[in-house]
Amino acid sequence: MQMSETIRGRYAPSPSGRLHLGNIASSLLAWLDLRHLGGELIFRLEDLDPERSYMDYARLMADDLRWLGLGWDAGWPADAGYAQGERTEFYAEAFSALQRRGLIYRCWCSRAERLAARAPHPGEEAPGSCRCRGLAGAELAARLNGPRPPAYKAAVPDMDVSVLDGHYGEYKENLARGGGDFIVRRSDGVYAYQLAVSVDDALMGVTRVVRAADLLPSAPRQKWLIETLGYPAPDYAHAPLLTAPDGRKLSKRDGDLNMAELRRAYTPEELIGRLAYLLGLIDRVEPVKAAELVEGFDWAKVPPGPVDIGGVF
Ligand code: GLU
Repeated sequence: MQMSETIRGRYAPSPSGRLHLGNIASSLLAWLDLRHLGGELIFRLEDLDPERSYMDYARLMADDLRWLGLGWDAGWPADAGYAQGERTEFYAEAFSALQRRGLIYRCWCSRAERLAARAPHPGEEAPGSCRCRGLAGAELAARLNGPRPPAYKAAVPDMDVSVLDGHYGEYKENLARGGGDFIVRRSDGVYAYQLAVSVDDALMGVTRVVRAADLLPSAPRQKWLIETLGYPAPDYAHAPLLTAPDGRKLSKRDGDLNMAELRRAYTPEELIGRLAYLLGLIDRVEPVKAAELVEGFDWAKVPPGPVDIGGVF
């Protein structure tokens, strides 16, 4: 008989601003998915980019999630080792393992570099493969002796990777022709999002990744990285994006829909009730506790989105 493995999911917020309505929708779905499956939820802080990480936001994020009744079982801040800022040695080890297998090359292109430490949002990245992959001889020597330190990219194979998403179904991408090679370490030495998230999910034994749909295109390369490093890839389920009535995706810049304002306007039950209605989990807007939604939770009820928040918020 096979041993049943622990089902483990995670919150993985980047502390670069106050949580907004879109983050809360993804967190609610991550929490419901895990609680419905009877799994364990961890809180991991994605504070990779020192220039964009603010511990005050991290503390507020944790407080906001607890206020909403979306608690977790282990992780930051109570337990050590759950903030990416403390985990550089693990990224360095994975980086060396990839290097030993000839899967890393130096890259001097500057595009996309600035963004590499945080999760990509639509239109923000087009790294692809680049000329640096084939640099050799005098040209390579000149770069190596030049003033700019290189970033490092993973050289992806020409291979289809398919992810069976718990909400969107099969999502398939050819690594080379889709996302292409991607940065794993910036030129300032900061390990990049794709490497860190894959290493953390692998080493933390994460079996369920529930997060916003704009990260669905990252799932095949993360699955490839995790499996290349010798670990089983988690199952993925992506949450629909929320949009403002004018079609804009909600972001941390939408100050009027962040938790500071939302906590002034609603009780936790009122806020969860409105979100649950938008996410297809209840039939009308009414106050509800997150815990009351666990038993009937079903991804089939959740619309593909984008979900217009107009008329509800
Ligand atoms: N830290 C990312 C964000 O806040 C989420 C990354 C992930 O869930 O893989 O957008």
